[in-house]
Amino acid sequence: MKKVGILGGGQLGRMLLQEAANFPVDTWVMENDPHCPAAHLCQHFVLGDIRNYDDVYRFGKQLDALTIEIESVNIDALEQLEREGLTVIPRPSALRIIQDKTEQKLFYQQHQLPTAPFVIVQNRAAVNDLLSFLPAVMKIGKGGYDGKGVQVLESAADTGKAFDAPSVLEKKVDIDKELAILVAVDKTGQTAIYPPVEMVFDPYLNLLDYQIAPADIQQKVLWRAEAIALTLAKALQSPGLFAVELFLSRNGDVLVNETAPRVHNSGHHTIEAQVCSQYEMLWRILLDLPLGNTAALHPSCLVNLVGEAGYSGPAAYDGLSEVLKMDAVYVHLYGKAETRPARKMGHITVLGKDRVDLVYKANIIKRTLKVVSGTKENDPGNVKR
Ligand code: ADP
Repeated sequence: MKKVGILGGGQLGRMLLQEAANFPVDTWVMENDPHCPAAHLCQHFVLGDIRNYDDVYRFGKQLDALTIEIESVNIDALEQLEREGLTVIPRPSALRIIQDKTEQKLFYQQHQLPTAPFVIVQNRAAVNDLLSFLPAVMKIGKGGYDGKGVQVLESAADTGKAFDAPSVLEKKVDIDKELAILVAVDKTGQTAIYPPVEMVFDPYLNLLDYQIAPADIQQKVLWRAEAIALTLAKALQSPGLFAVELFLSRNGDVLVNETAPRVHNSGHHTIEAQVCSQYEMLWRILLDLPLGNTAALHPSCLVNLVGEAGYSGPAAYDGLSEVLKMDAVYVHLYGKAETRPARKMGHITVLGKDRVDLVYKANIIKRTLKVVSGTKENDPGNVKR
């Protein structure tokens, strides 16, 4: 049986391992936290630092194939392992382009992939010479994730918020919709593309953060988005699963925002809503099996379950029973012992007949299910003495 390793033991690794149980594979995980979400679902857990050369090299040396569930891994070690014959998916060369947002943007430019106009800056001072470029969005080259490492600079008054590190300064786009498309590429270069999903934001009702699949877009936007995602995935010249995030601007342009070379939050719904989930798809690629069918079985909505503001400590799930009484609702908890404000603690996938039905159910879920802990931090009765 093939030994396949995953660098990182978060929720993406956890869901990948849940699917691995259906395949002939011996699973290995490396992470520096023995209680991480993936630790008890793999066959072999190795304590180690995924950013450390020796840890990654030693881990990879005993395996037949290696993949990632997070980008911040030691690429030098992966390159060495690949030179010595290990199958690394995605290839370290693709990971190197994606790990640094400045390299990623240059790659889009080189391959004529439409993306917001940008300038690469080395530090905060450089932004002061580019005031006519504002309003812009500044993105730190390395180390940003989940919106950390992204700063909107509306005008000269905001330059104090600029990062003092190599970054991309990108024109602010007037966004109509944010879309994401998953593309699977096998070792022979065959591809399979999933229907796009749409992120729904409603800042006024504070119903931020849910996602609907398939996206409600015109046919020509769909074709454009698919063409961009496929061209991009092929240009990376690597097998793997790629999540391409796109903006549809108010004047109808489709622009690439960023790419993740791994299973992705925007593909959680594929577990229940697709013939072949993104997790199954990655195992097929890793194990040299045929690509799966990406067709949707049902329209779906994904609600991210994040730690409620004001609560830190052992996690409790208020309203779980209520939500489990609803029809066609699938709850995924990530097994994180401690909650913190905005920490990703789980997600819920809802299947429904149409968009109205899905949005209605998603809103009930958002109002009903809350991740809390025993005591609220700003509770006056809980002042630390
Ligand atoms: P992260 O990798 O942290 O998710 P992103 O590059 O996806 O960062 O940016 C986070 C969010 O910031 C996007 O989902 C989008 O809402 C907003 N954003 C990013 N770039 C732009 C842009 N050029 N114009 C307008 N909004 C943007």
